[in-house]
Amino acid sequence: MSAYTLGPLLYEGKAKRVHATNHDDVVAVEYKDDATAFNALKKAQLAGKGELNCRISALVFERLAARGVPTHYLGVDGSNWMLVRPVRVIPIEVVIRNIAAGSLCKQMPIGAGTPLDPPLLDLYYKDDAFGDPLLTEARLELLGLVSPVQRQAIEDLARLVNRELLELFTEAGLILVDFKIELGLTQSGELVLADEISPDTCRLWDGAVADDQDRILDKDRFRQDLGGVVEAYGQVCKRVQGVCPEPRHYG
Ligand code: UDP
Repeated sequence: MSAYTLGPLLYEGKAKRVHATNHDDVVAVEYKDDATAFNALKKAQLAGKGELNCRISALVFERLAARGVPTHYLGVDGSNWMLVRPVRVIPIEVVIRNIAAGSLCKQMPIGAGTPLDPPLLDLYYKDDAFGDPLLTEARLELLGLVSPVQRQAIEDLARLVNRELLELFTEAGLILVDFKIELGLTQSGELVLADEISPDTCRLWDGAVADDQDRILDKDRFRQDLGGVVEAYGQVCKRVQGVCPEPRHYG
């Protein structure tokens, strides 16, 4: 017998669907095979991506939870379902960059591949209609999205996640270039890591490969039409499962 039953669809995003369950403190996240880039201007179906991202995220959340990082994660069910605590997602995307890449190099005179020490933390306003714009201190205050105390807590948690992910991916033979996370508040007001951590949301390079295209194991393969997207995600999964606890089954 299953420990929960599915309720209505609450929300459908670009890569996941969120369903209610018969428990008001559990929601079910279904990872889809849809791939999108450039604010959904580029779209494709990549068979197997949903399962891989679900498994990679679950492995990473297991390890982060074991190291004391608060997350929304509760466990997995089947190959592309994750059970999580419901959270009020804060509409801020937190990006941490350890190496310059992507939009940073398009907007600033910083060469791709430049190491960033200390890592650069950028906040973006999460709203596709506005194209997820970069937030300034003043705009953040103007929107009143978070208090100064909450903002500090968000940045502290994001930097803790970066330190843990750097260690994890280094052990897995991968270079963590940058990543985006989303944070949420639980029903009891706890700030937790939410959403997913996968090659859709992290730039990851193979530490053993020098060629600057061949080493890419993340969504940049899709963005840049390099091919082998699902194979690259499979490689990340294989490496990550060598250094993370096996995901617990929920239910
Ligand atoms: N990212 C993401 N979702 C977004 C924007 C960025 O997951 O809506 C991730 C992206 O995969 C990369 C990091 O955040 O790992 C930094 O992305 P960047 O700002 O360089 O934007 P991009 O190059 O994707 O335009």
